[in-house]
Amino acid sequence: MGRVALVTGGTRGIGAAISKALKAAGYAVAASYAGNTEKANAFAEETGVPVFQWDVADPQACAAGIAEVEGKLGPVEILVNNAGITRDGMFHKMSHDNWKAVIDTNLGSLFNMCRPVWEGMRERGFGRIVNISSINGQKGQMGQVNYSAAKAGEIGFTKALAQEGARKGITVNAICPGYIGTEMVRAVPQDVLDKQIIPQIPVGRLGEPEEIARCVVFLVSDEAGFITGSTLSANGGQYLA
Ligand code: NDP
Repeated sequence: MGRVALVTGGTRGIGAAISKALKAAGYAVAASYAGNTEKANAFAEETGVPVFQWDVADPQACAAGIAEVEGKLGPVEILVNNAGITRDGMFHKMSHDNWKAVIDTNLGSLFNMCRPVWEGMRERGFGRIVNISSINGQKGQMGQVNYSAAKAGEIGFTKALAQEGARKGITVNAICPGYIGTEMVRAVPQDVLDKQIIPQIPVGRLGEPEEIARCVVFLVSDEAGFITGSTLSANGGQYLA
């Protein structure tokens, strides 16, 4: 069995594609999720990937969840911080609860998840961490002050931690997807997609979750050891950072 890879939010959307691609590449994959147990169990049944439930915004829950995964599969050598949420709204109407939920889930989770696996990665002299940020963390997005701040924070986190891990064989990278055809994006009316969203994307289409998954498989491979602290934009040319 290959190295152990843990994907947060790995049961749905982009995370599900990442879990499947890592499994196909030979890794021993564990997928975490928040609360949609029905979906998670269906995913586990379909793929054979074990699923684990905890809230990535809760540091104690992350430590306990990682201990459970490691007890079943072995030390986590690859961590993909994919779990994320949006709570959109114009800033003049944004509640503190919606600010905090988005910061804690998207950015706070990076501390909560990396901290318990970091020591082991340092001791073993190997680790791969990939943080799924967003194009909106690079360019900012109206109606998403909370999300843009969290996703931009993920990029800073990535660059700083990469420097700390470099001498220990640990790489830390970020991927910034543009519009990806997940359930959420496909639920947007076709008219809005065709007239407003697709025209902003030079390649003329949405991205596929599998296209993000392939970026992850590349960055976590043993052969990608010279790539660290980088931000990989996968957005069809929509924003050239
Ligand atoms: P989805 O909403 O489809 O799936 C989110 C996953 O994260 C689910 O498995 C969900 O679990 C889990 N999750 C959510 N909150 C928590 C939490 N507090 N604790 C643990 N798990 C949690 O998301 P997407 O696939 O659309 O997005 C994945 C990542 O990609 C996110 O970080 C997002 O910000 C980023 N992204 C997405 C883009 C897109 O176009 N879709 C574009 C750019 C970036 P459960 O099923 O139990 O709810």
